[in-house]
This record gives sequence, C-alpha cells and structure tokens, in this order.
Amino acid sequence: MAEETKQIRVELGEAETVVAVPEVGEGEELKLNISIQPNDIVFDCPHCSKSMAIDGAGAGLAITCPDCQNIIQVPYPDTMAAETAADASQMQNLHEQLTAAQNRVADLAADLDVANRRIDHLEKTQSELKTHLEHMSTEWGVIQNALDRVMALMQEIRLR
Ligand SMILES: [Zn+2]
Repeated sequence: MAEETKQIRVELGEAETVVAVPEVGEGEELKLNISIQPNDIVFDCPHCSKSMAIDGAGAGLAITCPDCQNIIQVPYPDTMAAETAADASQMQNLHEQLTAAQNRVADLAADLDVANRRIDHLEKTQSELKTHLEHMSTEWGVIQNALDRVMALMQEIRLR
C-alpha cells in the first residue's frame, strides 16, 4: 500500500507517535526528538484509543496504528474545525433561543401589567356607571312624583 509507506514512528517522550512523511521509503523507521507542532493533527485510534499526533500533511491518509495494527484514517483538520464551528453555531442558536424566551417573558409581564390596569379601569367605570344609575333612578323618582302631582291636579280640575 502506497499510503502505508508515508509514515514513520517517533518517540515523543514515553509516548510513541506516528508522523506521516511522504518522502520516507517503505518500512523506514526513524527516531526523532520532536514535539507536537501547531499544524499536527492529534487524534485517538478508533480501535484502541491510542493517542497520536500526525503532521497536518498526513490528513486523510490510511495508516497502521502502532499499537493495534489496524488500518485507520487520519482525520482532516477541516472536519474538526467544522465540528467546532457547528458546536459554536449550536451554542449561538441556544443563546438566541434563551434570549427570545427571556424577551417573551418580558412581553408577557408587560401584557399582564396592561391587563391589570385595564381591569382597574373597568372596575372604576363599573362603579361610575352604578353611581350614575342610582342618580338616574333618583331623578326618575322625582319625575314620577311630578307626574303624579300633575295627574292629581288634572283630576281636580275635571271634577270642578
Ligand atoms: Zn489502535
């Protein structure tokens, strides 16, 4: 396999690390004193969970896990970045939903305030109408008395 020639094993302190190097010949093994570089892809073997650091150029290559010997594919950094972006987008989405919910609660509280003031106003209006009706009733009584007197006077006049 051409891909399997593009890797070397590296001692990283106590941890063994696989570094993809396209120029290295088949089966060639090197011991290098290197550290993980910023563009290295750090990932775990999906079979045995061995942690590996692969040079960024090795993304997508099929390599043999140094521990379990399974053929595994080096993940693409873009995929990880996309996952991080998706997580950030989801967090942003949740944050927006929370803000929307908080605004909704504030709106409902304002609506409730308006409703309470309307109830107060209606109660006041109802009380005013009651007073008005009582007043009209009194006036009607006065008019009724006056009419009674007129009728009585007319009766008297007719009797004369
Ligand atoms: Zn493994």
